[in-house]
Amino acid sequence: MRAVLMGPPSAGKGTQAARLGTEFGVPHISTGDMFRAAIAAGTDLGQQARGFIEAGKLVPDDVTMGIVRERLAEADARLGFVLDGFPRTVPQAEGLGEILASQDVKLDVVVLIEVPEEELIRRATGRRICQQCGRVYHIEWNPPPGHACECGGALVQRKDDSPETVKERLATYRTQTEPLRDYYSAEGSLAVVDGTGDPDEVHRRIVRVFEGCSL
Ligand code: ADP
Ligand code: ADP
Repeated sequence: MRAVLMGPPSAGKGTQAARLGTEFGVPHISTGDMFRAAIAAGTDLGQQARGFIEAGKLVPDDVTMGIVRERLAEADARLGFVLDGFPRTVPQAEGLGEILASQDVKLDVVVLIEVPEEELIRRATGRRICQQCGRVYHIEWNPPPGHACECGGALVQRKDDSPETVKERLATYRTQTEPLRDYYSAEGSLAVVDGTGDPDEVHRRIVRVFEGCSL
């Protein structure tokens, strides 16, 4: 399975991609998680990405393409992947197409998860992530067992999940990422999935789409 999960900020891409990756036995590759790990580790990549992320803007395409190119060259990703939050611009989609063509493979499907804007804001502002393992919770809809993660790690709020930055990220999505809808629709690989309802329900909808692909 070679799939892309697309959608506005906090639509549930990470929640669904983690589960699908485990179920289909392919790596879950999230550019957002890779950037956050680089920031936490204080690497050059983290320093390059930080300002853009905190402002709700996209990290420049050349930087993003660089990390994805490296990750997709690793052995586990050669057999399949669930990409989460990448591509986010038309040039990134073109770059991905070139990487896959050079490996003589193609995307099976691009799933666009749709959620109304008011709900996105509530999902983002209630999101908490584990500092240790990266697991994602929601204070209301997917609360942690106690005050900490199941792994014992402390839960933190992402800096870019403040209401102002969420609005900025939504605007970035509308202008820079939404054009991918037409791009992948023209390619014939787009499937639009309703992202409302509980995570199990959304999962079932995506699995139905996956099962319809020629694997
Ligand atoms: P994304 O990766 O698209 O930004 P996440 O998977 O991190 O989104 O989800 C954003 C927030 O919404 C998290 O707090 C998550 O627990 C919560 N969430 C995810 N899916 C659902 C859902 N179907 N219903 C309610 N809350 C959800
Ligand atoms: P969400 O989907 O909730 O907005 P992510 O964790 O996917 O969050 O991404 C967090 C931030 O990381 C984005 O707002 C953006 O600044 C940066 N980022 C992630 N993926 C990309 C990408 N493909 N291109 C450019 N920037 C990215």
